[in-house]
Amino acid sequence: MAEEKNNNTKRKFFGNRNNKPKENTNSVNTKSVNNAKKNENTSILTRSHAVEPAKQNDKLDAIMKDPIRSKFTNNKNTQTKTETKKQEPVKQVQNKPATQKVAPKKEQPQKTQATKTTNTKAVSQSKVIQKVAPAQMKAVVENKSDRTRNPAQLRRERLKIIPLGGLEEVGKNITVFEYGNDIIVVDCGVSFPEEDMLGVDLVTPDITYLEKNQSKIKGLFITHGHEDHIGSIPYFLKQINVPVYASRLTLGIIKTKLEEHKLVRSTKMIEVKAGETVTAGCFKVEFIQSTHSIADSMAFAIHTPVGIIVHTGDFKVDYTPIDGKVMDFARLAELGKQGVLALMSDSTNSEREGFTMSEKTVGKVFAKIFNGCQKRIIVATFASNVHRVQQIINCAFDTNRKVAIAGRSMQNVMSVAKDLGYLDIPQGVLIDVDDIDDYPPNRLVVITTGSQGESMAGLSRMAQGSHKKVAVGKDDLVIISAQPIPGNEKMVSDVIDDLIKIGAEVIYHSIADIHVSGHACKEEQKLMLCLTKPKYFIPVHGEFKHLKAHAETAKAVGINEDNIVFLHNGAVLEMDNGYCKITGNVPAGEVLVDGLGVGDVGNIVLKDRQRLAEEGIIIVVMVMDKKTGKIVTTPDIISRGFVYVRESEEMMGEIQKVVEKELEKFNQNDSKDWSLIKNNVKESLHDYLFQKTKRNPMLIPIITEI
Ligand SMILES: [Zn+2]
Ligand SMILES: [Zn+2]
Repeated sequence: MAEEKNNNTKRKFFGNRNNKPKENTNSVNTKSVNNAKKNENTSILTRSHAVEPAKQNDKLDAIMKDPIRSKFTNNKNTQTKTETKKQEPVKQVQNKPATQKVAPKKEQPQKTQATKTTNTKAVSQSKVIQKVAPAQMKAVVENKSDRTRNPAQLRRERLKIIPLGGLEEVGKNITVFEYGNDIIVVDCGVSFPEEDMLGVDLVTPDITYLEKNQSKIKGLFITHGHEDHIGSIPYFLKQINVPVYASRLTLGIIKTKLEEHKLVRSTKMIEVKAGETVTAGCFKVEFIQSTHSIADSMAFAIHTPVGIIVHTGDFKVDYTPIDGKVMDFARLAELGKQGVLALMSDSTNSEREGFTMSEKTVGKVFAKIFNGCQKRIIVATFASNVHRVQQIINCAFDTNRKVAIAGRSMQNVMSVAKDLGYLDIPQGVLIDVDDIDDYPPNRLVVITTGSQGESMAGLSRMAQGSHKKVAVGKDDLVIISAQPIPGNEKMVSDVIDDLIKIGAEVIYHSIADIHVSGHACKEEQKLMLCLTKPKYFIPVHGEFKHLKAHAETAKAVGINEDNIVFLHNGAVLEMDNGYCKITGNVPAGEVLVDGLGVGDVGNIVLKDRQRLAEEGIIIVVMVMDKKTGKIVTTPDIISRGFVYVRESEEMMGEIQKVVEKELEKFNQNDSKDWSLIKNNVKESLHDYLFQKTKRNPMLIPIITEI
């Protein structure tokens, strides 16, 4: 009974996905296939094609006239017709995808008939609209491009921006952009469980809204390869099969995830380079070179029928990045000149003054530490920070040290980065971690994970002396090249303590500058705002205090306070050139992943886990004679996590007596109501235990028949 109840609740609050009826799953699959087919028409353009070519403008115009019929406008007839009418200069029509992995846009001759009808209707409709009443005329005049639409259509044709995660939190970033019959999704991350989410491995976003609208989804666009942007992709793709667009390294990291979930074959992955643009329905997503603490990070300019939205992804301004790929400031400024409707910008460091230092400064500090150090050096950092790893390898090479990698996630990311050409490792530098004993301490560097004090990661195990390959002692210098993420400070501090206790020398962020952030501070955020000069500003990627601080920065550089929008997860923001309001909400909770279960741990299960963890459990086993319906033999009392039974025999005896007393009453009454006896036993035991111990363990009476 209790379990059934749990299931219901979980469906309600956490959007259970595993227990869906069969028919549903089938229909989902069919839809996904259709979707994938439809998406073959998506094309990639190089940047010169992205700057709102006339043809695209016409297409957008056609869409704006009638979003419902917009899918028929991808047709020669329609395009020629509108082109002649508008007579705008045609700049280009060359569709030469640089990393062609998708077919270019195809004509759809089978829909000609439908288009013709549509066109006739559209013409007659525009005639009708010319005779609109004065009140309606006013609405029409307000926005030139809306001239041919009535107010009802206007309302329907705004761009919707719906964050399903990543706001008022740091983690599980995912944002929906919707216009008419088209949806694109930007990022799909996880967050890590809060302390009270016992046993939960990951927290993924609730994508119920997208499941309901999956036929509209044209693709998943990923800014970069961090977990808070890619971690939920496998769970997403199991529900909604759409193409994934990302840069080379990002896609490589995503692929290793999909391999674990056996999703590589069924997923269409499309590599996009900075400067290229992908057309997805009425959207065009332009990839812009950015800089962050992982290579190949992108900002997006999303060209929509109502204007350009710049989404920064995670960024910092690094004028001297390790790979030399400086952020494309020129393009951002160009977009700013062209007119950016809204800027959605990374708020993580919005409380910090000044600039984030270049990644290169860390390399200099490493070089100083490595030079002349006679100890073995162990560096813990984020596996995904390829540039940091590169600098460690460079310093090792310069000081004639070999490098060994400890930890599976570090090995995985490094092999992807190496294979794709993002890591340059000189011949002979890398050795197997099993061979480290063949080298003296001053000839070795070990790179490992665990810079956040994660209990299962390399560094924590080394600190506890339980690492299978690396035993840490007084001959070791440990560098923790990271800053604790808020909430992890205690764990990191414990690891540092343990390392010092076993004799290691430890260098961490408060001792030396062995880490720089990957996120922009105030001055860099100002630069982004000034380059893009957005009409509306939407601070994203951060807790509310971060969003608020970012808004203050925006105000300081002249953004109108009324045009700054605070979104929350699930908010539906509708916007066009003269309108920007939150008009509703969609489900946007958390779906918890525990082992192989997705969404099957909800509020009630978590409450049970907490109570079990805090109070323990007592199970009372009673035996009933099937013939007489009487309880026979003395009840068995089993307890876990309540008291240590061997030291509390007296209390266990008393518990038994309390139960027996209830059973006597029951046997005298001649009743056979099992639930009644269970309840009575529970109640009297509860009273007894609370009075005796002031504790409230979970009580489970069980009756077995003989
Ligand atoms: Zn990031
Ligand atoms: Zn992030």
